[in-house]
Amino acid sequence: MLLKIVLGFLCGIRALAADNNTAQEGPLPLLLVSFDGFRADYLQRFPMPNLNLLYSQGVLVEQLTNVFITKTFPNHYSLVTGLYAESHGILASNMYDPVSHKYFHTYNDTDPMWWSQARPLWITAQDSGYKTAAMMWPGSDVTIGNRTATHFLPYDSTMTFQQRLGNITNWMLGNKKEPGVMFAALYWEEPDRTGHIFGPDNTTAMAKALKEVDENIGLLMSELKQNGLWGRVNVLVTSDHGMAQCSAERLIQLDDCLDPENYTLVDLTPVAALIPRKDPELVFERLNKCHKHMTAYLKKAIPDRLHYRNNERIQPIILIADEGWTIVQRGNKLPRLGDHGYDNSLPSMHPFLAAVGPSFRQGYRTSSLQSVDIYPLMCHLLSVPPQPNNGTMNGARCLLADESCWDVPLVVGLVVCVLLVLSFITLVFRLMSHRRSLGPRPFQRLQIDDDDDDDPLLE
Ligand SMILES: [Zn+2]
Repeated sequence: MLLKIVLGFLCGIRALAADNNTAQEGPLPLLLVSFDGFRADYLQRFPMPNLNLLYSQGVLVEQLTNVFITKTFPNHYSLVTGLYAESHGILASNMYDPVSHKYFHTYNDTDPMWWSQARPLWITAQDSGYKTAAMMWPGSDVTIGNRTATHFLPYDSTMTFQQRLGNITNWMLGNKKEPGVMFAALYWEEPDRTGHIFGPDNTTAMAKALKEVDENIGLLMSELKQNGLWGRVNVLVTSDHGMAQCSAERLIQLDDCLDPENYTLVDLTPVAALIPRKDPELVFERLNKCHKHMTAYLKKAIPDRLHYRNNERIQPIILIADEGWTIVQRGNKLPRLGDHGYDNSLPSMHPFLAAVGPSFRQGYRTSSLQSVDIYPLMCHLLSVPPQPNNGTMNGARCLLADESCWDVPLVVGLVVCVLLVLSFITLVFRLMSHRRSLGPRPFQRLQIDDDDDDDPLLE
């Protein structure tokens, strides 16, 4: 009986959730926008009227748990593949490949070899017959599996947000010769640039940069409205990572611990990647004891939770600086006042996700999601079969209008309340029946055994 009541109650909630939804037929075009380095708590610290308006009509995920290392290229590739860095092979801003003996830098990144361990959505969506576009998204100007997005432009820092957006809307609209794209990815480099130069704690500089970012979000909404796309496309606004405040007081100098002759440096801060030239154990021992705000790992001992071990491009030793600490080889010069790349469990490294469009719930807010879950969500929205990936639809399902979804803490709370009320009612009934049983009773003669000589009036 109790179980029936609880189940009936939960079904009621489920039905309510479903009633709240609106369904649409067939997949809608999807626009994915990244504002580089948009730390999740900027949303609370700075006024963002346009962004607030956008997610008030859709959904907000307050913090995205992104992938390690929390750098631009690994995380942008994770967003469009659903893979951890160890699986898609874009592991850092600077890499060395021991098989091909090639070096990768973000300013020299178009060799397809680096990107070929995964397939981004702008390529796989074409297999479903869609046109796609990628505007300056990391990897979008690279031929991956002999293909690019239908439309793309290589990175050009002089091109304004408005110009990039203008191209995207034209590609989404299509023309008489060609249908509009079904998936478009758009990249913008702020507030990352300002965060690096001034640090996230510089309220004046960050307020200015975020005001511009918010104006660009306003521009995005008005451009889509003007072209009749608003309400007919799904829009995701997100970022790759956050930003931590650095300081010249928080420098870790490698040369203080070990002669640089002992190793080849592939990447430096806040995650250093090293190839020992001499005795690897000795090199590791020295670096392991180097600084209390830096952790050294032999490749085989890198923690599972970082998903950063199973790739030949991960070097034999990595060093991870604590939040806000900067690794340098020598000297007292701080390269940047703000940086990212640190442990992806740190809230300062997390971005956010806002989404709006016919497929999303309205006015829904949730605290967290894995960034690798965005890829299966996008495949679901586009009805594109996902490539093997590290994400799931479990968390993202709650964001969608046509999916029933359990708000787990709410449901657990309600179940506990129902059980408490039922227990209380049961207790009251028992007490009442017990009190009745203590009242005057009619005389009743007991059956007494013949050989029992005790008092026959005892019950
Ligand atoms: Zn970035």
